[in-house]
Formats: sequence, structure tokens, C-alpha cells
Amino acid sequence: MAFAIDTAVAILEQEVRNYQVPVVDLIAAQTRDPFRVLVATILSARTRDEVTAAAARRLFARAATPAELARLDEKSLEKIIYPVGFFRNKARYLAALPAVLNREFQGRVPDTVEALVRLPGVGRKTANLVVAVAFNKPAICVDTHVHRIMNIWGYVHTRTPLQTEMVLREKLPQRYWIRINSLLVAFGQEICRPQRPRCDRCPLAVICPRIGVTPLRAAGSARPVADGRLRLVSWNVNGLRAALKKGFLDTLHELDADILAVQEIKAMPEQLPDEVKKVPGYHVYWNPARRKGYSGTAVFSRRRPLEVVHGLGREELDGEGRVLLLEYDDFFFINSYFPNAGPGLKRLDFKLDFNRAMLELMDRLSERKSVVLGGDLNVAHREIDLANPAGNEKNPGFSPPERAWMDELVGAGYVDTFRRFNQEPDHYTWWSYRFDARARNIGWRIDYFIVDPGSRDRVLAAAIHDEVPGSDHCPVSIEFR
Ligand code: SF4
Repeated sequence: MAFAIDTAVAILEQEVRNYQVPVVDLIAAQTRDPFRVLVATILSARTRDEVTAAAARRLFARAATPAELARLDEKSLEKIIYPVGFFRNKARYLAALPAVLNREFQGRVPDTVEALVRLPGVGRKTANLVVAVAFNKPAICVDTHVHRIMNIWGYVHTRTPLQTEMVLREKLPQRYWIRINSLLVAFGQEICRPQRPRCDRCPLAVICPRIGVTPLRAAGSARPVADGRLRLVSWNVNGLRAALKKGFLDTLHELDADILAVQEIKAMPEQLPDEVKKVPGYHVYWNPARRKGYSGTAVFSRRRPLEVVHGLGREELDGEGRVLLLEYDDFFFINSYFPNAGPGLKRLDFKLDFNRAMLELMDRLSERKSVVLGGDLNVAHREIDLANPAGNEKNPGFSPPERAWMDELVGAGYVDTFRRFNQEPDHYTWWSYRFDARARNIGWRIDYFIVDPGSRDRVLAAAIHDEVPGSDHCPVSIEFR
């Protein structure tokens, strides 16, 4: 049955009257000034409303116009807006903002999404919010609450906020576009919360299908609230510093990963900003390569692991930071960036040695508990796993010896989780930057989640997130229980 969106919005309009007004709406209502709305929206990302409101007050006392903002340098801005989330990045964006406004928009805040996203620190979400709130023009700001709740209602069936925005543009009556973000942010903070939504006191309880929602158990219930389902994600970011500039942290939160395994970080931790080393809600572990700007892995984990091991335990294989092993109560998680066999297969022997060591490790660990391997295995297993198998038969990543190792892995009972759920062609995780390969979907599936034979049924779903930009690879994920 279709979700009754008109009824839901009408009920929520009544309901949220009693809630605190989101800070950006408050500033818009108080000032009607697009510049202040834009600045407050930039400040508000990943920041509690009270903190945003206080920082905005301090900032507007010193800089209420682009010209006044231009007189403040980045360091002063950092001090003024601290402790908003990612305050260093935001100070950098704000410092650059007046010049871009002057150069491209005659000193005025533009009123279209396409123009706003050209400003520093402004993504689609911010741009839509500014268009809707500051200019009162039809725009749909899809933040994490809107994306999540629309899927819970079954009004959309999407994997990312961008997909949700596109579906809502087609489907949601335009009269709701401007309001929907404010309504669902307020509702998502108070009632339909990301963790433990309060269905017991929700005015939409009778019409909500609660898709994917774990019910809140009664107080005193012997079992924990969570069903123990974990979302595990793996992503080769092809350089973490570059990925940060392309919104890596936003993607991390949007992916909502319990564990995110990252490969090819190409950086030492000391070369990275604090915002990626101290991500609220995550423990972060690093295994950089000895050689600067090359290879390396990292893991962001909501749970603190019992133990973290760097490498396979073989000196000759461990200098490139290719393995991070995390032990949890009932499974081992291996993040691995397998070597590339290289042009002319020059590194094939090194790669096969690495592969053998990895399989031995997995065999050993799986005698104790479940094993989950997530990473870039740098090999397409079968013809279905790349767009042009005939042309790549002798090339690295599809050479017979590399594929034979995959045969051995799967032959031993290890599970290629994506293929457990999907036997269709045209699903890839890596595309060359050349020849417009991604747009034409001429790709390879070389990023995997593999689990040991006994853990097959612990995998509830597997996905490829090919809509996520920011690298030449896209993330892959599993739901694991
Ligand atoms: S019934 Fe529960 S899941 Fe549905 S909207 Fe209300 S709080 Fe959210």
C-alpha cells in the first residue's frame, strides 16, 4: 500500500510545533538574510544546533556581511567558530567565501543549487537548504534524516541521499519541498531517531510500515535493543587526502558504517588533518606504507576491537601497509589492499606470495571464529566480473594465476558475498579514469567482502555502492550478523 504522504506531513506540521526549531530555520526567520543563512548552514554540518547557534552568534557579531568576513583570516575564524565540527575546514571555506562571491556573483549569495555548489564548502545538501530556507524557492534538502525516514516510510527505496533527492523531485508534491527538511530534521531528532526511534510515542505509528526499523524493546527486557546487525563497508579511496577534499567524511557518515575499511590511503597519519583522525563515534586505526604517498590501509570502527594487528606477520610482505586485522568478540575483520600484479605482471610473484599468506591467515583464524575479509583484491574473478574479459586475459588483475587463486579461495568454501546475492553482469567497483569509463560502465569488480565457509549465513545482504563518487573505486558493503 502506498504511504500516505499527505496525512504524514499534516500530522507532522502539528507535531513539530512543540519541538525546537532547527537553527538554520531560526536564523532565516530572524534575519531573512541569505548570507547569514548560507554561513549558518555551512557551520551546522555535523554540529549540534546549540553549538551552531552560539558559533553563528559570535561570527555574525564580527562579520555580518561578505565584506566584513573578508577582513578575518583563517586562524581568527577557527577561533571564532570553534568548537563546531570540522572547524578548520569550515574556517578555510569561510575565509575563501567572500572572494568567490565577489568574483563570480557580484558579492551576492546566488539563489540556485547549480550556482551555490560552486562556493567553497557547499555541497548539494547545503545548496538545497539555502535555496529553500533563504530564498523560499522550491528545493529539496535531503540530509540524513530525510533520507532515512523516507526509506523507513517506504516512500522511496534508495541507498544514498542523492538518490533520495532525485526520487523526491519526481514524486513528492512540490508544495512540500521547502518544508520537508525542517519537518523531518525536527522529527528525526526528537521521535524517529537514528538509534532507537520512539515508535511507542510516534503520531505516525499507525501508518508507518517501519521498514528496516528495529523495535524498541520494553524497559527491563532481557535482550539488548540492537539486533546485532553490523554494516561493514570497504572502500579503496585512491588517496585519502584527495578523498577528503571530495567529501570523504560526509560519505563516511552517509554510508553509516559500523566498520569502514579503507585502502590506498597514500598518506602517513601525521600528514592527515585531525578531523579524519578523530572522527566522533569512531575508533580509527592506521597502517601506512613505509614509502610516502603509496598504498596503506585504515579502519574506522564504531566498536573498539579487542586487538589490532598490523600486517600478515611476514616482514617482506608487510612494508606496504596492506593489512589491518581487527579482532572482535565473535569475528575477525581483515582489511586488505592486495598488491597489483603490475605492468607485464612484474609483481606477480610478490602478489601470489601475499595471496598465499593471506589464505593461510584466514584458514588459521577461521578455526577460532568467523573471518570477514574486506578490501581491494586487485583481481576480477570471472568473466562476468569485468566489462572486457577477452581484451584483458593476460593483463594484471585478470591473469590466469591471479584468477586461479580466487578459484582456490572459493573452492575452499570461502564466500564471495556479492555473488551470493547477485549473479547479474555489469556490477563493477573500479573504473579507469580514462575513456570516460565510469560513465560508460566499462569497469572491473575487484573489491570484495569474503567470509569463511561457516559464516555464510551471517551475511544478510551485500551491495556495491557505485553511485558514490570520490575515487576511481566505489564502496562495497555487507550486512553482517
Ligand atoms: S513509527 Fe517509528 S519508525 Fe515509523 S516514523 Fe514513527 S518513530 Fe519512525
